[in-house]
Amino acid sequence: MSSTLIRNASAILSGARTQGEGPVRLDGPDIRIVGETIAEIGALTPQPGESIVDATDCVVYPAWVNTHHHLFQSLLKGDTVGLDASLTPWLAATPYRFRALFDERRFRLAARIGLIELARSGCTTVADHNYVYYPGMPFDSSAILFDEADKLGLRFVLLRGGATRTRQLEAELPTALRPESLDAYLADMQRLSAQFHDASPRAMRRVVVAPTTVLYSISPSEMRETAAFARAHGLRLHSHLSETVGYQDSARQMHGMSPVEFCGEYDWLGDDVWFAHLVKIDAHELAMLASTRTGVAHCPQSNGRLGSGICPVREMADAGMPVSIGVDGAASNEAADMISEVHMTWLAQRARRGMAAQPSYAGGRFEGGADAATIEDVVHWGTAGGAEVLGLSEVGRIAPGFSADIAIYRLDDPRYFGLHDPAIGPVASGGRPALAALFSSGRRIVRDDAIEGVDLRELAHEARTAVGELLASV
Ligand SMILES: [Zn+2]
Repeated sequence: MSSTLIRNASAILSGARTQGEGPVRLDGPDIRIVGETIAEIGALTPQPGESIVDATDCVVYPAWVNTHHHLFQSLLKGDTVGLDASLTPWLAATPYRFRALFDERRFRLAARIGLIELARSGCTTVADHNYVYYPGMPFDSSAILFDEADKLGLRFVLLRGGATRTRQLEAELPTALRPESLDAYLADMQRLSAQFHDASPRAMRRVVVAPTTVLYSISPSEMRETAAFARAHGLRLHSHLSETVGYQDSARQMHGMSPVEFCGEYDWLGDDVWFAHLVKIDAHELAMLASTRTGVAHCPQSNGRLGSGICPVREMADAGMPVSIGVDGAASNEAADMISEVHMTWLAQRARRGMAAQPSYAGGRFEGGADAATIEDVVHWGTAGGAEVLGLSEVGRIAPGFSADIAIYRLDDPRYFGLHDPAIGPVASGGRPALAALFSSGRRIVRDDAIEGVDLRELAHEARTAVGELLASV
């Protein structure tokens, strides 16, 4: 079995939760990978025939786990029509305006761009909420996503989106935006589950039942049916929820309750469920989510770009909710990579808490919110926290017996010079630290900041051409 020794790291963060899960920082300075697994950590002696990776002056993290994305949007960054729009008008202006134009070639190119962007930020596990599905579709978008992830050596979790109804008039929609029937949706889930789903704790391929937006995409009775289907097949459940106040208004008007109460009523809460966003929730909803151990995919850059607000991740984690981080689609996040996302997470939680500070004469009891998120909290949420919501119990940590998913950052850009504690650089300083190496399930997929077989200049050219075509056809 192949063996690799990562030598002399200047710092190693384990991805463990700050309390009760073993050390958060590891002394190392060496890590041995045997086959697909982290075998040993400590001061280790090279063995004959072993590959050596020199990590001198490098910082080592578990590879990131991204729990919510829409890869097809990688060709929709900064669309001028939707650039200054909030969620609902933005949906019409950007993703729905362009979605019908995604043929097989453009869809594949967009997926490839997004996956490469993520890998270059040190991410090896990608959960993509794909909703490019419609009746009579001439290409298999699910298979393309698995294929593109496989080519790069990434672990891929398909969150199979879709809708059985639409908020717009169906007759006026182009074919590529028409909803499916529930039978067709479940039949395709059955196919995907048989073809791609691996239930093992470090699976490279998973599928998840993920109607695009439970509140709008399917009926309440279909929510119960999809939940029962998922649980009968051992699949997890995912959807968007409470991204803006619009969800609160809709749930109240349509069902006379809050969005989380509505999900509870129709079997969509539990430790096998996680929702993207959860920006607008009240104390009762937070308690319901925590008591059922329902998880969150926190997407702070998209929530910032769309002006939605800031998810109370600190309160969620303190209440016992599984917390993870997602980049969301690039149509609402012009930097859909995990380093930007965790940098924003760290800052936004502190800013959010600070917004509640009051002067002491008005009853205030604290000055600011700098205690709302540590670097170690953020690394945990972006690694082991993500693996937890995806049910990948041997992924997301640097510990013996875990899958060898490891990012080794060089910090050789001036933005990292002068750091008193280099370990915090990738999160605290942001930017994109160069990768000395990225291991995905023991396989080295990035070497000296380059992915083998990927020509970024060629990819940039293809992207420019595709954007030109999209703008000419819309
Ligand atoms: Zn989303």
